[in-house]
Amino acid sequence: MQESTAILNYIPVDELTGSVSVPIYQTSTFVQDAPGVHKGFDYARSNNPTRKVLEDLAAKLENGTNGYAFASGLAAIDAVVKLLKAGDEIIAVDDIYGGAFRLFTHVYEKFGITVKYTDSTDAQNVADAVTDKTALIWIESPTNPTLKISDIRAIARTAKQHNILLCVDNTFASPVSQKPIDFGADIVVHSATKYISGHSDLIAGLVITATEELGAKIKFIQNASGAILGPFDSWLVIRGIETLTLRIKQHAENAQKIAEYLESESLIKNVYYPGLKSHKNHEIAKSQQKYFGGVVAFDLAIDDKELAIKIVSNTKLFKLAESLGGVKSLLCLPCEMTHKSIPAEKRYQSGVTDSLIRLSVGLEDADDLIADLKQAFAFATTGEFVPAWKENVEVTSEVI
Ligand SMILES: *Cc1c(COP(=O)(O)O)cnc(C)c1O
Repeated sequence: MQESTAILNYIPVDELTGSVSVPIYQTSTFVQDAPGVHKGFDYARSNNPTRKVLEDLAAKLENGTNGYAFASGLAAIDAVVKLLKAGDEIIAVDDIYGGAFRLFTHVYEKFGITVKYTDSTDAQNVADAVTDKTALIWIESPTNPTLKISDIRAIARTAKQHNILLCVDNTFASPVSQKPIDFGADIVVHSATKYISGHSDLIAGLVITATEELGAKIKFIQNASGAILGPFDSWLVIRGIETLTLRIKQHAENAQKIAEYLESESLIKNVYYPGLKSHKNHEIAKSQQKYFGGVVAFDLAIDDKELAIKIVSNTKLFKLAESLGGVKSLLCLPCEMTHKSIPAEKRYQSGVTDSLIRLSVGLEDADDLIADLKQAFAFATTGEFVPAWKENVEVTSEVI
């Protein structure tokens, strides 16, 4: 069975009523027949039927044994770090998501967990960083925002050899594109805020484990710490997953077209997209991803922040906002937004220049999106600065 069919087929019909849509069990507790005798649900922090459908679905999507839903991507990441103890060491991708960096460094270091950051695009760097204290290897592939790719199979071999856990933050790829557990990862996390829910309307996280044993540990932490996803948001994520395969295909098709156009644009210096033959890790990306995703980044031939600000302020379809993975296209200027807290020198080392612009390519028509970028480039280079909201706003008396 094709995955698109399997996903839809896996979402259960409600046994009680026949409801095609998964019911939202908006309850905190469940009546018991006798003390300790119940239908598998006693208190909704521990378990909730709506959340359970999502968790089982997440496990299936990633080819894992167990899935767990959290209040945010960071709560999911936090649950994984809680598997460690004082004295343990993490080896993490140097281009790590800023929120994970903040959590590892500014929360967990004070509990005696240390983190070494390394360029994991060369798997040898990870192998070289291993010590007898290493308990967890943490990678993202592709990374944010320059879409660096790490060889998950090679890093998983290192992890297995030294009996270290490998966790992959699979947010940018989505499980439709890439299933790290198939390549030997022990744990996968997602910010389900992004592609998995797909509509920019909630915050959620997922942890999926490769074994029941690891699953039981995450389940214990989920219940002990309590950062669960509520029933309504669980339902929204399930609804998002129903169209995940379709969306990911279209995001990738649009992103490929836009990346190819950007490569031909003289205003631009580098285009970062794993689907381009010019991408440094295109071959590895091809060997582990079915699609290349919906995020494209580029910087300008003249590294001019003011010009970049004019561009991102003058697109009409691409909305200026942080986040990614939704049906509506967004764009951002990382140096002033997502990566503002990173010192300029460190930021430049990872390719995030003052003029680097990140696109989250949505599901509008690709040609319309290209036309939008073209008009913003043309407008920004003519010199006059007019915010986009001043244009094309038709106010008719009927509307008022
Ligand atoms: C957004 C994001 C997170 C954090 O997820 P939240 O849902 O915002 O808490 C973690 N990892 C990556 C790669 C992300 O893009």
